[in-house]
Amino acid sequence: DIDIPVHTRWRTVTRPRIDTPGAHSHKYSRGLVAVIEGAMPGAARLAARAAMAGGAGYVVLAGDRPWGEGPDALVRREVRTAEDLSEFLGWDRIDAIVLGPGLGRDRRAEAYLRAAFAAPKPLILDGDALTLLGTDAARWLETRAAPTWITPHSGEFDRMFAGVGSKIDRTLAAAAEARATIVHKGADTVIAAPKGEVRLLAHGSRWLSTAGTGDVLAGLLAAQVVQSGKGVAPAEAAVWLHARAAQLAGPALIADELIGHIPGAISECL
Ligand code: AMP
Ligand code: MG
Repeated sequence: DIDIPVHTRWRTVTRPRIDTPGAHSHKYSRGLVAVIEGAMPGAARLAARAAMAGGAGYVVLAGDRPWGEGPDALVRREVRTAEDLSEFLGWDRIDAIVLGPGLGRDRRAEAYLRAAFAAPKPLILDGDALTLLGTDAARWLETRAAPTWITPHSGEFDRMFAGVGSKIDRTLAAAAEARATIVHKGADTVIAAPKGEVRLLAHGSRWLSTAGTGDVLAGLLAAQVVQSGKGVAPAEAAVWLHARAAQLAGPALIADELIGHIPGAISECL
């Protein structure tokens, strides 16, 4: 159900190659992901747990909510204001930032977005962060000093970018304009980078159409960013692992269970 323009260079999302940690690996060398919590903390928590399952060495969830129960390797950092957040994001151990899942759209959310934008670190923006960017998205995104990935569904995409043509055409144009790598989600996922690379995942698990699966993708992408760097490669790896985890989870999956199948998907990539 996707219209593929004849002139683009595209290929299907393929299984990534993932390195087993080396003898000298440790939690910091495998990458530290900071996930920022907002109005709906469950979404940030899903992203944070997905980043851990996706192979990040260390994940810090920053926010003001009390800890839930049970053992959990997530580390928490208390952040109550945009000033707290800026100070935390100045920590040089941080390798990537996730902002947007469950963020909310209030004034504090806007201030958090500005703080994250100003941090010279790889940034993954999803959900409410994208809605807050709105029609100014491209103008804002092109000012970023460090790499940026955005993961809009079609509603979020359409609020940020005008444009005509197929989903591939519009995603490519937006990536070039915003100078960001875009993971345009939906029944088909289109990944596009500013230099014109396109990756396509069609026929993903329809059972992914349930709350929280997008938050899982954002965390998984952060884990790939801290491990495999720039541009399309981490996005392609995240989208492949997400789709494979969904297949392994099977029918009627819920977002929590999807996370549990990420290691199984990774084991097919070693
Ligand atoms: P979100 O819209 O942020 O909740 O993210 C939903 C996730 O599920 C994205 O990764 C989508 O690509 C995926 N998804 C949603 N609906 C479908 C569908 N009908 N078929 C395949 N994947 C889907
Ligand atoms: Mg979402």
